[in-house]
Amino acid sequence: MIELQDIWKTYADGTHALRGVSVLIERNEFVYLVGPSGAGKSTFMKLIYREEVPTKGQISVNGFNIGKLKPRKIPYVRRNIGVIFQDYRLLPKLTVYENIAFAMEVIEAPKRIIKKRTMDVLELVGLRGKHNSLPQQLSGGEQQRVAIARAIVNNPSVIVADEPTGNLDPETSWGIMNLLEEINFRGTTIIMATHNKEIVNTLRKRVIAIENGQIVRDEVRGEYGYEN
Ligand code: ADP
Ligand code: ADP
Repeated sequence: MIELQDIWKTYADGTHALRGVSVLIERNEFVYLVGPSGAGKSTFMKLIYREEVPTKGQISVNGFNIGKLKPRKIPYVRRNIGVIFQDYRLLPKLTVYENIAFAMEVIEAPKRIIKKRTMDVLELVGLRGKHNSLPQQLSGGEQQRVAIARAIVNNPSVIVADEPTGNLDPETSWGIMNLLEEINFRGTTIIMATHNKEIVNTLRKRVIAIENGQIVRDEVRGEYGYEN
C-alpha cells in the first residue's frame, strides 16, 4: 500500500537526503525506521505524508501517486495519514478536546460526529477526564497521547511517527508503545522512526535501516543494530 520506487530527494542546498530508495510497505505492517541522525529517516516520512515531494522516483500511498498529486487532492491524502512528532506539536491555546476536534473540523465533519468521535479517541488513549485541560497542564506522556488521539481521529490508514518516545522516560515510552500496538492491531499501518534500542529489540517488528540516504538493511523481526 506504500511503495517507493527509486526515490531520490535532493534539498535546495544540494543535500542528497535520499539516494535511490525502493521499498514496499504492506497494509497493517508495523515498521521501525532506524539509522544515525541525518541518515534520511525524517525525509522518508515527510515524503509519505506529502510534506516534501521527491526529486526523482515514484511514491504511491493507497494507490495515489503522491509525488504528482494535484494540489486540490492533497487534503484527501493527508487526512488518510496521521502524523506524530517527538515534541507533540499541540496547539497551546486550545484544550485537549479542541486540539483533537480541530483535526475533524478542517475536514468539515458534522458537529455531532466530531463530538462522539473525539470523546471515543480520548477514551482510547486513556484521557477522557482531561478533555478540558490545556496541553501545558499535562505531562509529556499525556501530551503525546493527545497527539496520538489527534492523529487517529480521522481514522487514517497510516500513522507516521517521528521519534514519538524521544522526549519521554522509559516507563511512559512503554505506555505509548502499547497504545501504538493497539492502534496497529485495529488495522492501521505504523511507520515509526526511533533511536530507542530497548524498544526495537523487545517489541520485535520489521526494521528498515537507513544510512546516508540508502536502505542498508530490511528485516522482518529485525534488531536495532546500533550501540544506541
Ligand atoms: P534523519 O531524520 O535520519 O535525522 P533527515 O531526513 O532529517 O535525517 O536529514 C537527511 C539529510 O538531509 C541531512 O543531511 C539533513 O541535514 C538534510 N536535510 C533535511 N532537511 C533539509 C532541508 N530542508 N534542507 C536541506 N537539507 C536538509
Ligand atoms: P469499528 O470498531 O466499528 O470499526 P470505529 O472505527 O469507530 O468502529 O472504532 C471503534 C473504536 O476504535 C473507537 O473507540 C475508536 O475511537 C477507535 N478507533 C477507530 N479508528 C481507530 C484507529 N485508526 N486507530 C485506533 N483506534 C481507532
